[in-house]
Amino acid sequence: MSEAFNVADVFGEYVFNDTVMKERLPKKVYQELRKTIDEGAELHIEVADVVANAMKDWAIEMGATHYTHWFQPLTGVTAEKHDSFISSPKSNGKVLMEFSGKELIKGEPDASSFPSGGLRATFEARGYTAWDCTSPAFVKHDAAGAILCIPTAFCSYTGEALDKKTPLLRSMEAVNTQALRILRLFGNTTSTKVTPSVGSEQEYFLVDRDKYLKRKDLIFTGRTLFGAMPPKGQELDDHYFGTIRERVASYMKDLNEELWKLGIPAKTQHNEVAPAQHELAPIYEEANIAVDHNQLTMELMKKVAGRHNLVCLLHEKPFAGVNGSGKHNNWSLTTDDGINLLDPGKTPHENVQFLLVLTAIMKAVDTHADLLREAAGNPGNDHRLGANEAPPAIISMFLGDQLGDVINQLISTGNATSSLKAGKLQTGVATLPDIKKDATDRNRTSPFAFTGNKFEFRMVGSSDSVASPNVVLNTIVAEAFCDIADELEKAEDFDSAVHDLIKKMASEHQRIVFNGDGYSDNWVEEAERRGLPNLKTMVDAIPALTTDKAVKMFEKFGVFTKAELESRSEVQYEAYSKAINIEAKAMIDIAGKHIIPAVIKATIDLANSINSVKAACPDADISVQTELLQETSALLADTKVALSKLQDVVEEAAEKAEGREQAVFFKDVVKKTMDELRAPVDKLEMIVDKEAWPMPSYGDLIFEV
Ligand code: ADP
Ligand code: MG
Repeated sequence: MSEAFNVADVFGEYVFNDTVMKERLPKKVYQELRKTIDEGAELHIEVADVVANAMKDWAIEMGATHYTHWFQPLTGVTAEKHDSFISSPKSNGKVLMEFSGKELIKGEPDASSFPSGGLRATFEARGYTAWDCTSPAFVKHDAAGAILCIPTAFCSYTGEALDKKTPLLRSMEAVNTQALRILRLFGNTTSTKVTPSVGSEQEYFLVDRDKYLKRKDLIFTGRTLFGAMPPKGQELDDHYFGTIRERVASYMKDLNEELWKLGIPAKTQHNEVAPAQHELAPIYEEANIAVDHNQLTMELMKKVAGRHNLVCLLHEKPFAGVNGSGKHNNWSLTTDDGINLLDPGKTPHENVQFLLVLTAIMKAVDTHADLLREAAGNPGNDHRLGANEAPPAIISMFLGDQLGDVINQLISTGNATSSLKAGKLQTGVATLPDIKKDATDRNRTSPFAFTGNKFEFRMVGSSDSVASPNVVLNTIVAEAFCDIADELEKAEDFDSAVHDLIKKMASEHQRIVFNGDGYSDNWVEEAERRGLPNLKTMVDAIPALTTDKAVKMFEKFGVFTKAELESRSEVQYEAYSKAINIEAKAMIDIAGKHIIPAVIKATIDLANSINSVKAACPDADISVQTELLQETSALLADTKVALSKLQDVVEEAAEKAEGREQAVFFKDVVKKTMDELRAPVDKLEMIVDKEAWPMPSYGDLIFEV
């Protein structure tokens, strides 16, 4: 047995959390800082100086030599630049360890090499990072030692957000303000803050590192660009929730310990549907912290894998033919005194406040379905959405039997008078305990599902930051709340006004509710009849960012300016084009330098064997060898033709105007040509001698971890 590990003892060990602050800060400073964290009060430099000093002492005790402002540029990953704590050497040749309030609250990384989508020309390189004290600082340990990481927002010289955190914080303020207006309408005078809570379930694949290193496609693009299906895929469903293999279990144990030390509440782990696929879910936290923690989780997943000679693949579709990976974004709104606005209670039909919130969310999601879809767009996710595994690319809402019934009553009679009851589970076995059923079954095919007391947005890609989907959710719901509050605050008879408004919103936005099978073709047709957008690819969804309705909303709530939205749209087009360009070039490289030479060699071996057999035994039947040689040579010729074509279109793509035009060309032309190259290569893999194939197969990669 390994040494006993007490989770409660180590949880948050590397975090400058509330307990540490209380212990180490003078009472007055602590109180001032809490005011800033909880109420958004201004932070004074004198307070920052004391906090910085305490933070530095604590971090040095943890072994830290450096600090960094840790931020989230538009690349979707995190960025850091380390500075050591040493001051300039004194006359005695010694240094002191220093860290000032100014260094804590403001940093100035050179912003010119981060994507800004035209917000800032490269010669105007100034960018600032500003301390986000609502997400706790932490110490990260790696081969370089230990680093104090300070979560920060990243803005340009002119104050425009160059990152994912700034708009998230703005959107949290927006939904807080508007949700409080709704609560006040219902006579709530005690709650002072409403915060979105987020729990993001993270899917991932693990593959053996030695095999990974033989797959250039995985190295360069995170996914396989070639690969024939193994004889067994996921059809037996024997991996989902299956016993976790030793090597993977030991990885999960190691990962959990690292996460817990960083205060990340890793809770659930299991095998997922595809072979070699797994999931980790944390306990939900405030949106801002949950987003930071998900970034750290992804980073640690990759890092810890290395220690086990594994590689963690976070790509949405590392392998064709088996399920890809997503990230379920669970979202709810909670007050500082513990009321979950999405809790329907036992009798939702009587819970007017809940019905108002629910219909407001229907309105928000229906009005801005395109924006939600956009927030889940990335090049990898295009392989999942709508491909009969993940939710379809069409946004709809699943309410389940109980709420669906309440909404139907509201629409048809204007009054909801009953709620379907949850029954008891009949197992037919006397010794099993009575289990109360939920009032609503699950629906795995819905992109936006009500699951008890939260909504689960299931479209998000596994490699993406969850910042963008939550920015959209917070803002669209803030807008719906604002419209409602504007109307109800003026109402003379609140009860009848709220009743009418709920009915009106339920009727007007009923089309977004769909409880059926989201994977069926019928639904695609039905959704079209209902007028719901079906934005099949990331590129199709990008224009949603800059529609008049989007600009108007984001500007009204101070979440994005028009310029910030335009910059994000530009960054998205560019990210798409770059990703596909790298994939196409990797295919060209692998096909030209590895596959074609290997197949040529295989044809020579076949020809030699035909000649040898003929020489040894002129009457022997050599039809198999001959047929194989013909087939292989024909596919080899197809491969070469497709390769040349791909080379041509990649060159053509480079000539296109950057932005939308180029991205559309990559989507419509380059991707199709990539498929044309993959087809003969995958067929070749099935007939060429395994020993001669230049890389590990799907079977090797996903069944032998
Ligand atoms: P499910 O089985 O419906 O997926 P789980 O209880 O397993 O639900 O939770 C999935 C994720 O949702 C977890 O990260 C969990 O912490 C989170 N979650 C649970 N309740 C809430 C809530 N009220 N708001 C936000 N996230 C939540
Ligand atoms: Mg779930």
